[in-house]
Amino acid sequence: MNVPIPIPSPPAHHSGSLQCPTCSGIALAPTQLEFGLPALGCGGCGGAAISLLSYRAWQAHTCVLDAAAVQAPAVAESTRALKCPRCHHIMRKYRVTVDSECRVDLCSACDEVWFDAGEWPLLIALRLHDRLGDILSEPWQTRLRREQATRQYEARYLELLGARDYDVVRKLREWMRRHPLRKHILEYLARGER
Ligand SMILES: [Zn+2]
Ligand SMILES: [Zn+2]
Repeated sequence: MNVPIPIPSPPAHHSGSLQCPTCSGIALAPTQLEFGLPALGCGGCGGAAISLLSYRAWQAHTCVLDAAAVQAPAVAESTRALKCPRCHHIMRKYRVTVDSECRVDLCSACDEVWFDAGEWPLLIALRLHDRLGDILSEPWQTRLRREQATRQYEARYLELLGARDYDVVRKLREWMRRHPLRKHILEYLARGER
């Protein structure tokens, strides 16, 4: 027998006193980011705040969305540090992917998330709308920083060596990585340099 799982009711939003963190003097108004995902939206900038608690409840029960139907939109990325609309702590920015400048703001004090206009549809278009918990985690952020660093040094060597030689060296490196005798090959190459 299927026992219906109760959906926890989201925390009440006291919209009257909450102000948009990016616009000055605009109050946030209750809305829904998706069906079953309550939010507080700003009519000025199009940004929205949600609580992670509401998100997790939505994610657990109703997060099936048609990502193919959503076009990756332009994101009105806020670059300055934002203050949490709920508790006024400085929110931390979490990068979403290496390829996108999109960074989601999270208040670690009260788990409120801020999406700049376009960020939520972008997450859907990237099929990451059900991975917000992962994005707002250290492993995700560490992986992105590593990927970013790798791209930077690859770009540096590409510029230094030129496209043709960079390609040769890169293929040689790939070949050596898999080679059981790579230590000896490296020694041999180094010896030839003397
Ligand atoms: Zn606003
Ligand atoms: Zn807060």
